[in-house]
Amino acid sequence: SKRKGKFTYTFYSEEMVEGARYRLFIEQGLHKALSDKAIQAYWQPIVDAHSHRVVGIEALCRWIDKDAGMIPPDSFIPVAEETGLIQALGLHMLREACMLLKLLEREGLEEIEVAVNVSGQQLKDSQFLEALQEILEDTQIQPQRLELEVTESTLQSEQASLLIWQLRQAGVSIAIDDFGTGYSSLSKLTQMSISKLKIDRSFVSGLGEDSRQQIVVEAIINLGRSLGLRMTAEGIETIEQRDYLRDKGVHNMQGYYFARPMPLTELLAYLLEQRPQ
Ligand code: C2E
Ligand code: CA
Ligand code: CA
Ligand code: CA
Repeated sequence: SKRKGKFTYTFYSEEMVEGARYRLFIEQGLHKALSDKAIQAYWQPIVDAHSHRVVGIEALCRWIDKDAGMIPPDSFIPVAEETGLIQALGLHMLREACMLLKLLEREGLEEIEVAVNVSGQQLKDSQFLEALQEILEDTQIQPQRLELEVTESTLQSEQASLLIWQLRQAGVSIAIDDFGTGYSSLSKLTQMSISKLKIDRSFVSGLGEDSRQQIVVEAIINLGRSLGLRMTAEGIETIEQRDYLRDKGVHNMQGYYFARPMPLTELLAYLLEQRPQ
């Protein structure tokens, strides 16, 4: 068992070295990518469940590397959070979102909201609020058209909850992302005047295959309705998912069925094409 212990130790340490090496690689690359503007915002439309008109747009970051191609956020956001680079990345995305809001205003599309993902790490930074207020001031957008998507687990932190409350005071909207996957305190949802729940894709994708999944989705929707919150379902890929969720009372929808995340020029072409004459 002594030998086994040694083997286990070696095995883990090699894995740890690999992990550390990978982390360092991402960290160094990410640092450069941020200054080289290689971190870009892609935009995914969110539509009204009935009219299918675009009511919102979610900013999703992409790392466009000239050798590796497109690197998805799941492979670098965790590293950005561990290393603190999430602060700069997050502010970059907020700036991009406010600039898009400005652009939409000029195009006569000022009813469309723009949502940005905000990591719990960002809400632990004492300078976040001030930095955001500076962006709002520079761009002169109406703060209620900017929506910050925070995960349920973020609400567990007192510090983050206080900041969310301050953000509400500043006029920005707050949506609870990946709703149903964490443990949120229901009293907090009402106390902090959260404006929206986003039902996680994992619940939507199981619809039709598993009747228990249907029960869970219905419970989430009923909960949202009782709390008087607007609801967006993520990851709609089929007409069946669309119809089911619309009939259950979900207000807004987002997913490949409607549109994929896309770069700015494509988004603008899409919006102008959809614009009622
Ligand atoms: P999320 O906030 O839950 O975003 C939704 C994810 O689902 C996005 O993945 C989106 O591209 C994908 N998606 C949308 N519709 C469909 C669909 O119909 N089918 C499928 N299979 N997928 C769909 P993405 O862009 O890879 O982002 C992954 C996660 O990375 C996000 O999950 C979010 O948690 C995080 N993330 C992305 N951008 C940022 C950012 O700027 N800041 C922070 N802190 N996190 C970000
Ligand atoms: Ca999100
Ligand atoms: Ca998320
Ligand atoms: Ca999600």
